[in-house]
Amino acid sequence: MPEFDLHTHSNVSDGTLTPTELMQQAFQAGIQVIALTDHDTTDGICSAQRAADRLDLRLIPGVEISAHWRDRTLHIVGLQIAVDHPALQQGLARLASARTERAQQISQQLQAAGLTGDWYAVAQQFGQSIGRPHFARALVAAGHAATVPEAFRRFLKPGKPGYAAGTWAPLADVIDWIRAAGGQAVLAHPARYRLPQRRLRQLLAAFVQAGGVGMEVVAGSHSAEESRTLARLACDYHLLASVGSDYHGPGLSARSLGPLPALPPGCTPIWQDWSLPVPDAVAHASA
Ligand code: AMP
Ligand code: MN
Ligand code: MN
Ligand code: MN
Repeated sequence: MPEFDLHTHSNVSDGTLTPTELMQQAFQAGIQVIALTDHDTTDGICSAQRAADRLDLRLIPGVEISAHWRDRTLHIVGLQIAVDHPALQQGLARLASARTERAQQISQQLQAAGLTGDWYAVAQQFGQSIGRPHFARALVAAGHAATVPEAFRRFLKPGKPGYAAGTWAPLADVIDWIRAAGGQAVLAHPARYRLPQRRLRQLLAAFVQAGGVGMEVVAGSHSAEESRTLARLACDYHLLASVGSDYHGPGLSARSLGPLPALPPGCTPIWQDWSLPVPDAVAHASA
């Protein structure tokens, strides 16, 4: 079985590596099938594809889309998407505007809180598809916090001066865009939402009802126990199971790039129906 990592970020959103560097480092770390899933943009896929083609690495075109469900922000990963599909790109264009507007708002709120500077301009230097991590890095660079998590805690979390809610798209719309583009909609890192069990079940029911087909069972931020609980829920709701590190760059994630824990027994992997050319390395290993 090849090693899969189906959730990663480049500096085309809030990661720090270029798509090319990300492909090279993932390959060197032993990954054979990778999805680039930048926040609300597919702009990195082309150069990632060129880099993957030069390596013995299979790239799955992907995206991580910001969605609303009830009073929550959720992240929906789209895998195997036709990147150029108009319905998908119109949806992503809408979210790009929402990100720009929110970034201007965050910048003004930080100024109003007494932090002088053009925070929007500085944050833009830390990557594209601008979001809170870009502001966190700008605040660290200016000495207002020692680390990115500290910048989030002090300035960017709900209730803090630099927090602004994004006007994302409804969950059902996001799933429609992914399906229109021929992709599979996967609920990202479900344990991260810290939903009570009953709410999580309501979410999974709504997600399936709207056309979602998978959920991340193994994720960079999930404990082994969370993965086992989610594996049972995936079975209950007939959801395919995905694995992804949510890697953002060296030093930024809990785990480094490389093989992820195996899916718990009983899960049906999201890749069950994918036609994957077997990479040379795997063919030799199993020969
Ligand atoms: P945004 O979509 O702009 O609200 O930013 C969300 C992103 O911020 C996530 O994808 C993470 O990469 C990052 N993030 C969220 N919370 C934290 C935190 N407490 N510390 C560091 N990074 C975080
Ligand atoms: Mn992120
Ligand atoms: Mn996410
Ligand atoms: Mn992510």
